[in-house]
Amino acid sequence: MEIKVVKDILGANEQIAERNRHLLDSKNVFAVNLMSSPGAGKTSLILETIKRLKQEIKIGVIEGDVSSSLDAEVIGKEGIPVIQINTGGECHLDANMTYRALDNMPLQDIELLLIENVGNLICTAEFALGEHKKILISSTPEGDDKPFKYPLMFHTVDAILINKTDLLPYLRFDTDAYSRAVKGINEKVEIFQISCATGQGIQEWVSWLLTQMNRRYGGR
Ligand code: MG
Ligand code: ZN
Repeated sequence: MEIKVVKDILGANEQIAERNRHLLDSKNVFAVNLMSSPGAGKTSLILETIKRLKQEIKIGVIEGDVSSSLDAEVIGKEGIPVIQINTGGECHLDANMTYRALDNMPLQDIELLLIENVGNLICTAEFALGEHKKILISSTPEGDDKPFKYPLMFHTVDAILINKTDLLPYLRFDTDAYSRAVKGINEKVEIFQISCATGQGIQEWVSWLLTQMNRRYGGR
């Protein structure tokens, strides 16, 4: 019985997510769902992405957190539209919360929407938001065994950013073994090695993102 309830919740979420995607497509807004465990660098990646792209394209951000608006305040300083969602205890964003945020966003003035999900590697992977791409930020201090522990997340995403590569000399993180494990779960996933601290790999990530946007909505 419990299984059916879960399926109903996810089914209803899927429908709202589909509506969100239609709304985004009607305004040519490309949306990415950024997921990771707490502290892997979602907010830092958003800031690096804004830094490299804000002269070129119009960016908006949705910040998902259980509570507080700390990250939204940091990003708000960049002078771009930011909406904070406080999930009030829920450990993931869902399509309905995302819809309420979209409803308050000036979508006509946005080309790229970065959605920072709640820090959590489990149920964030299950709830579609209406995004066009799902991204995982996996940081080196978390260890290279995560693909084995959270296979759904690794299976679901379109790209994985291995963040904090500047710390590799101090850690036992085998990048090759990690990448092999990831490809075993998700053959098509793109893997980028980045460091928000040094800027390594950020340009490659940003170029990939622009390519995905152009594929969806044509050259701008
Ligand atoms: Mg954050
Ligand atoms: Zn959850």
